[in-house]
Amino acid sequence: MNTRAYAAMDAASPLVPYQFDRRELRSDDVQIEILYCGVCHSDLHQARNEWGGSMYPMVPGHEIIGRVTKTGAAVTKFKIGDTVGVGVIVDSCSHCKNCKAGYEQYCEEGATGTYNALERDGVTVTQGGYASQIVTKESFVLRVSDNLDLKAVAPLLCAGITTWSPLRFAQVGPGKKVGIIGLGGLGHMGVKFAVSLGADVTVISTSQSKEADARKLGATGFLNSRDKEQMKAHAGTFDVLLDCVSANHDYTWYLNLLALNGRMMVVGLPTEAPKVQPFSLINNRRSITGSMIGSIQETQEMLDYCAKHNIVSDIELIPIQQINEAYERMLKGDVRYRFVIDLSTL
Ligand code: NAP
Ligand code: ZN
Repeated sequence: MNTRAYAAMDAASPLVPYQFDRRELRSDDVQIEILYCGVCHSDLHQARNEWGGSMYPMVPGHEIIGRVTKTGAAVTKFKIGDTVGVGVIVDSCSHCKNCKAGYEQYCEEGATGTYNALERDGVTVTQGGYASQIVTKESFVLRVSDNLDLKAVAPLLCAGITTWSPLRFAQVGPGKKVGIIGLGGLGHMGVKFAVSLGADVTVISTSQSKEADARKLGATGFLNSRDKEQMKAHAGTFDVLLDCVSANHDYTWYLNLLALNGRMMVVGLPTEAPKVQPFSLINNRRSITGSMIGSIQETQEMLDYCAKHNIVSDIELIPIQQINEAYERMLKGDVRYRFVIDLSTL
C-alpha cells in the first residue's frame, strides 16, 4: 500500500519526503491511519547511525497514535474507528522462553523493531511512524482511551513504557527515594510515574534552568549534576536511580549517590561504553541494571493507568516539515519535553 512518509536516506543528511509500499494486510493485521508520532532520541541515534547497523532509507518513529482503518479477517481485538497505539516493537518469535513468559521485548530471537529492523521473514525492512499509515499485527497493537489528549499520549508508547517498566520492577512507591537522571522525554515521564506511585523524587540534571519544571512535575528535590558540592552532599542517599541520559557520561559520578543496596537502572543509550569505578559498586553493595522498553501487556497496563490517573506527556506539536529542526533542538535539550509530529501536515 502506497504510504507517504519522511525518511533518512543516509546517516548524514536531513530527513526528506519519501514514499514506499506497506505490506498488504495479513489476516491478523490491523491497518492504522497515523495521527501523531512522538520524536524519541532513539530516532535520532538510529537515523544518524550512532549505534551502527542502520538501514536506509529509514522511516523513524515508534510512538504512534492512530485510528484503525481496516482489519484482517482473523482480527478480534479491534474494529474500524478504534483509537490505537503502536510502540517500539511490532513482532517477536512468540515461542521462546521469554516470549512465552510475556516478555516479548526480550525475545531470545530478537523482537522486531517498529523500524530499522527486519520482519520475521528476515528480508523485509520495517518502517516507522513518521508516515501516513502503518500495518501491524494485532497482538502488538495497544488500546488507547479517547478520554486523554491523544497527541500527548503518543510519547507513552516509548518514553512512557520505558520508564514505567523499570520503576515498577524496582517496586518504586511510598518510602523510596528515587532520582531521575536527565529531564528529557524519558526523564519527565519517569518523574510523573515515580511521583504518581508515591515515591520521593529528585531530578538530577545538567540544566539548572529545569528546576522549576522539575518541581511542577512533582519532584521534591533538584540536584545540579555539574555541581560537585551538591553531588557530594547527597552521596549515599538514593534507593533507585533511573538513568535517562542520551549523551556519553560517567556512571561512577551518579553511582555514589546510592544508599545501601541501591540500584541504578539504565535506560539511556549513549554510544560510548561508560566508565565504572568498582569501588563505587562494592561500597553500599550497589548494582547497575538495564531495562528495555516493556512488554505489550505491561504497555497496556501503563496506558490504562495513565487513562485512570490522567497522565500524559508534556509536548510540543510540530508539523512534519520541522523534523530536522526538532532533532537539532532535542540535541540541545531545547524541548519541554517531547516533540510530537502532527501527521495531518504530511
Ligand atoms: P532526550 O529527550 O534528548 O533527553 C535526554 C536528556 O539527557 C536531556 O534532556 C538531558 O537532561 C540529559 N543529558 C544530555 N546530555 C547530557 C550529558 N552530557 N550529561 C548528562 N545528562 C545529559 O532523550 P530521550 O528521548 O528521553 O532518550 C534518552 C535516552 O534513552 C536515549 O539514549 C534513547 O535512545 C534511550 N532510550 C532507551 C530505551 C530503552 O528501551 N532502554 C527506549 C527509548 C529511548 P538534563 O538537561 O536534565 O541534564
Ligand atoms: Zn523511543
